[in-house]
Amino acid sequence: MSQLKKSWVESANASGHPFPLNNLPCGVFSTATAESHCGVAIGDMILDVTTLEEAGAIRPGEAPVFDLPAWNGFMELGQESWERFRQSLTDMLSIGADTETRATLQKHLVPQAEAEMHLPFAVAEFTDFYAGRHHATNVGTMFRGPENALPPNWLHIPIGYNGRASSVVVSGTDIRRPWGQLKSPDHDRPAFLPSRRFDFELELGAIVGQPSNGPVTVAEADAMIFGYVLLNDWSARDIQAWEYQPLGPFQAKATATTISPWIVTRAALEPFRSPTPARDVPLLPYLEEPGPMLYDIDLAVTLAPKGQPATTIARTNYREMYYSSAQQLAHHTTSGCPMNVGDLLGSGTISGPTKESRGSLLELSWGGKEPITLESGERRGFLEDGDTLTLTGAAHGDGFTIGFGAATGTLLPALKDPYAR
Ligand code: CA
Repeated sequence: MSQLKKSWVESANASGHPFPLNNLPCGVFSTATAESHCGVAIGDMILDVTTLEEAGAIRPGEAPVFDLPAWNGFMELGQESWERFRQSLTDMLSIGADTETRATLQKHLVPQAEAEMHLPFAVAEFTDFYAGRHHATNVGTMFRGPENALPPNWLHIPIGYNGRASSVVVSGTDIRRPWGQLKSPDHDRPAFLPSRRFDFELELGAIVGQPSNGPVTVAEADAMIFGYVLLNDWSARDIQAWEYQPLGPFQAKATATTISPWIVTRAALEPFRSPTPARDVPLLPYLEEPGPMLYDIDLAVTLAPKGQPATTIARTNYREMYYSSAQQLAHHTTSGCPMNVGDLLGSGTISGPTKESRGSLLELSWGGKEPITLESGERRGFLEDGDTLTLTGAAHGDGFTIGFGAATGTLLPALKDPYAR
């Protein structure tokens, strides 16, 4: 097991710090005085790799890759360049770096406290999966009863739908409660109203860093993944319940999808690889995994009503998934569907086996029938206006932590009827 790599950026060595030298996650930031640049988190600081590249101190590609505020250009360089860049940053930020190197990098360090974070990459397309067995079982039990909880295809196919890249926003972006077509069981006809059952979904997002044009294996798919972010697939359950058959969710999932601002690279997560669970039925050969493809990442969700402290409402682990992102990506290509740099794949809701480890309010409150109680004493079936929902994640190693930061968003009240005359 690897250990803490010590950096001359002192804050990075603090016990439990999310951004030690072992991590080096990739983001895009701006400050009051500087426009958006690419940066790498190290301790409480951000290393501005845009100005570092301009100054000629790093040169990951033949042409500049950090001249635009997105990591797509760097991802396009491919695995060998990713590894070389990570190694050179590791050397330059290491406690063993010479004084000249330190003096050069010092000029390009910005305190995170002074930075505003932006989307770390241009999202090409967004696909969301439904690959957590506990989540699929819980939802299926509520909607179809325990005998038919898992659809007949579920143990064979990583089920997904094509989402909207345009809906992906960075952590900290406010979310507006949507209007939509709702159909109450007590009424014969639907009505156009603000969603009353607005929810979150705790997921991990995998970022495709290399393209494909035709079917790829699980091992090839794994190598195409550049890194991971936390992902909240905001979900209007009442819109979803009425619209989802037969083509799956549409407007229920299109309001917004929040991601955390730091891409944690696959390389940083290597020490935390974990196997997918035992299979009830064998997978078709193209979905078989050559090795462990999940990661041991602790995940938590907090909910803070407006002006109130946050309550932790769920704790789970990414190991609970049934299908890995690599399996999902491989499956995505079986039809010949081309995949592009910057494609984002949502894992599906990461619920665990216990009540406390459920990754959505739909499950935590069992469809709103068993509201949860917050530390303020307030109860929640679904989200209320003013609620702030925050996802956090971290992999805990031997003396170091690989943190994801947070994916947070506050729910604002619905606007007036957009079609009112
Ligand atoms: Ca989802």
